[in-house]
Amino acid sequence: MANKQNKIVLVTGGSRGLGKDSALQLARRGFDVIITYQSKKEAAEEVVKEIETIGQKAFALPLDIASTAGFDTFTADVKNILDTQFASAKLDALVNNAGIGINATIENTTEEILDAMTNIHFKGPFFLTQKLLPLLNDGSSIVNTSSGLARFSFEGYAAYGAMKAAVDSLSRYQALELGSRKIRVNSVAPGAIETDFGGGAVRDIAEYNQGISSQTALGRVGLPDDIGTVVAFLCSDDSKWINAQRIEAAGGFRI
Ligand code: NDP
Repeated sequence: MANKQNKIVLVTGGSRGLGKDSALQLARRGFDVIITYQSKKEAAEEVVKEIETIGQKAFALPLDIASTAGFDTFTADVKNILDTQFASAKLDALVNNAGIGINATIENTTEEILDAMTNIHFKGPFFLTQKLLPLLNDGSSIVNTSSGLARFSFEGYAAYGAMKAAVDSLSRYQALELGSRKIRVNSVAPGAIETDFGGGAVRDIAEYNQGISSQTALGRVGLPDDIGTVVAFLCSDDSKWINAQRIEAAGGFRI
C-alpha cells in the first residue's frame, strides 16, 4: 500500500518572524512545508534545514508579494515542487503571512506608502490566493494575517491598519465563496510581537515593550510562538468548524 501523503502547507514570508514560527509549528504537527522569502535566501534555507531536522519535507521559493507580475512564475514553481516532490499532490493549507509595516502619520503618508501597504497586504494576498486556488485541495484551510491594529489604533499605522482591516473583510468573502469547495478561511490578528517587524521595536526598545505590556491583560508582549501555534491550529482539522473568523492573539491588549 502506498504511503499516506502528508499534508502540505505554503507559508509566505517563512524566512523570519511569525512565518518562520508558523512553518516550524506546522512541521511539528506533520505538515510538509513550502516557505517563501523575499531577499533573505540564507535565512529561508536555515528554516528548511530546521524543518528537515523535525522530519518533514521543506522547500523555499522567492516571492515578492507586492508584485503580481511574478505570480504566474511563482505558481508554476509551486506546481513544479508539488508535481516532482509530492507526486502531484495539492496544497492543504495556505498561510498569507508575508509583510512589513510602514509607520507614517496620515499627514506624512505618500501615495507610494499607501500603494506599498495596499500591494503587500491586500492586492498581493488577494491575487496570490486566486492564482493558487487550482493548487489547493478541496477542504483546505487558508489563514490570512491581519493585525490587532485593525481593531485598536496606534499613531502612524493608518494605511497599514486599514489594509489589515481589508484582510479581515476579504477573509469573510473568501470563506463565503470558497465554502462550496469546503475551504475554510480565517484571519489571525497578532498583537505586538517580538520580531524584526517595525525595525524590531517591540523586541529591542524596552520602553515601547513595557508600554505595550502594561496595557495587556496578560502583562507582556507576544512572542512568535504565541502566533505560530494559532496558525497551526487554524490549518489543522482541530479547527474544522472555525470559518470566516478573525482570531485576535494579543494577550488581551486594550480590552
Ligand atoms: P518579519 O519582519 O519578522 O518577517 C517578515 C517576513 O515577510 C519575512 O519572511 C520577509 O522576507 C517577508 N517579506 C517582507 N516583505 C515581503 C514582500 N514584499 N514580499 C514577500 N515577502 C516579504 O515580520 P513578522 O513576522 O513580524 O510579520 C509577519 C506578518 O505578521 C506581517 O504580515 C505583519 O504585518 C504581521 N503582523 C506582525 C506583528 C508584529 O508585531 N510582529 C503584529 C501584527 C501583524 P525576507 O526575510 O526575505 O525579508
